[in-house]
Amino acid sequence: MHHVYSDTKKDPHSPLFFTSVWRMMVHTHHLFRGLVQRTIKPESQFVEDYLPEWDRLDKFGSHVVTRLTFGAIYLSYYIYFAPNYFYFLLLPIHFFMGAVQGAIVNWCGHKYGYSNYGNGDHSRNTTPWGVVLMGELFQNNHHHDAQNANFANKWFEFDTTFQIMKMMQWAGIIKIVVPVG
Ligand SMILES: [Zn+2]
Repeated sequence: MHHVYSDTKKDPHSPLFFTSVWRMMVHTHHLFRGLVQRTIKPESQFVEDYLPEWDRLDKFGSHVVTRLTFGAIYLSYYIYFAPNYFYFLLLPIHFFMGAVQGAIVNWCGHKYGYSNYGNGDHSRNTTPWGVVLMGELFQNNHHHDAQNANFANKWFEFDTTFQIMKMMQWAGIIKIVVPVG
């Protein structure tokens, strides 16, 4: 949906239509929850092609016991390794890291930075290096060529995730199907 309707009113998370990142993420949350609970039906264009559905994995991932277990793992890591209690203030970032990552990428990636391509939307490459967000902030490149596994296109850009993927391919764990430019 985000790519088809990028930065239009039907985009599930475009910073153009929200006064704060919080409002944008609340809207995204409601929409995605509706899709998961089937109270909102996806448009037919998004389900024409085969989409793998892993019901049991979805149920496992969203089960309260799974969530609490992961929370307990994060907490015990802090208890064991944190040098002092101030570090515990970082725990909420770990508990909600999916939403935090989504908020940063969706907000900054369509608001701040430079463009390599005129995609007809507001997608941006926020920085030329992708270390912190693992390459996700090359939104302008990604919207230009969504099938490309490498989000970095210029010589000065660096996509950390793609480098990890190359190592995984080298180790025989994955195969990068789409050739990169
Ligand atoms: Zn985007």
